[in-house]
Amino acid sequence: MRQPSIAIIGAGIAGLALAHQLSAHARVTLFDKSRGLGGRLATRRQGETGFDHGAQYFTVRDARFHAALEPFLEAGHVEAWNAPLMRLNADRTLERLVDRAPRFVGVPTMTALAKAMAQAIEVRLDRQVLSLAGEPGHWFLVTPEERSGPFDWVLSSAPAPQTARLLPLDAADAAAVAEVRMNGCFTLMLQLPGDTQLPFEACQVAVEGDAGDPLPVISWMAANNSKPQRDAAVSLVVHAGSAWSDAHLEDEPDQVRERMLAACRNLFPTIPFDAASGITLHRWRYANVERPLGRPFILDTNRRIGACGDWCIGNRVEAGFLSGHLLGETLTDVMGKLTAKPLSPKLEA
Ligand SMILES: Cc1cc2nc3c(=O)[nH]c(=O)nc-3n(C[C@H](O)[C@H](O)[C@H](O)COP(=O)(O)OP(=O)(O)OC[C@H]3O[C@@H](n4cnc5c(N)ncnc54)[C@H](O)[C@@H]3O)c2cc1C
Repeated sequence: MRQPSIAIIGAGIAGLALAHQLSAHARVTLFDKSRGLGGRLATRRQGETGFDHGAQYFTVRDARFHAALEPFLEAGHVEAWNAPLMRLNADRTLERLVDRAPRFVGVPTMTALAKAMAQAIEVRLDRQVLSLAGEPGHWFLVTPEERSGPFDWVLSSAPAPQTARLLPLDAADAAAVAEVRMNGCFTLMLQLPGDTQLPFEACQVAVEGDAGDPLPVISWMAANNSKPQRDAAVSLVVHAGSAWSDAHLEDEPDQVRERMLAACRNLFPTIPFDAASGITLHRWRYANVERPLGRPFILDTNRRIGACGDWCIGNRVEAGFLSGHLLGETLTDVMGKLTAKPLSPKLEA
């Protein structure tokens, strides 16, 4: 019997978990607009140094995520990041926090897990899906370069606003997705002189805003070189706070960079920010999930479309994994039952 053909939009952890789950039962093709795999599990090279500029680490609380990670841990694509977790308090004291769960990272870069997960999957990178054409059970993906298909099913793991633009969701799903809230985040990356002594390796920043900047500017700082198998250069990754990032999302990048640097100097006067080199800013338009969908995925068996991603469940790599995994599990089951069932002739608007 012919295996169903499935297009998945997005090669982040959710799309990859979904592809993994489905590839034993279907012909799966994964499309991503980026040149690399991993989505927000991201690493950028700046000169000789790599910076994990998206997710800093992930935790593993769910047994299904744990089981899926096991082979990648064993193969050395993932390792624990044991640097002490600190917090800079409002009174500028540094406090050591107790981790509630071990922290893991991809090695030698954050994207390593995504690359390993994609090994047996057909992936088309540099393909921004602009729209869907065709009809349920006979979908085509339209990219600037080509029209790909037909596919029996199309599933999107793109962030909620992008999924809403791409998929012909029914009215109830469209309304639910419109309620999802995602925040932006600015990431500053900089290399410090080799002899710099940082007062932390991984540090949450819990310092309130001030008269000049009422919203907290900085929320996180980490020495990328404290993660396993990274370059030795002292490389700092700094995240701006969600509310501050949203308020400045459309500002000039140079202005954002200067304001973040000024805030960094103010928080840690002993770090030689003025001697930093290769300073780069990245803007994440959809970084974190403020208000999730509240159910693990969307699946519309009439339209033969579905959606998953961290935004369905919550704000973490593990949430992205679980959403993709659970959609894959359910769709596998549904496909088995659907083989003889015709598509509904009339779809709601
Ligand atoms: C700055 C930052 C810090 C974070 N820190 C942490 C952390 O410390 N711990 C943690 O657990 N989580 C963290 N997160 C969140 C974590 O990265 C996400 O929860 C997780 O990676 C989401 O995975 P996903 O597959 O759902 O989405 P994504 O990784 O965003 O994947 C979606 C993919 O869809 C692609 N796409 C979108 N539109 C299209 C289109 N039209 N055509 C083709 N492809 C498209 C994108 O290119 C992307 O690759 C952080 C995120 C950011 C940005």
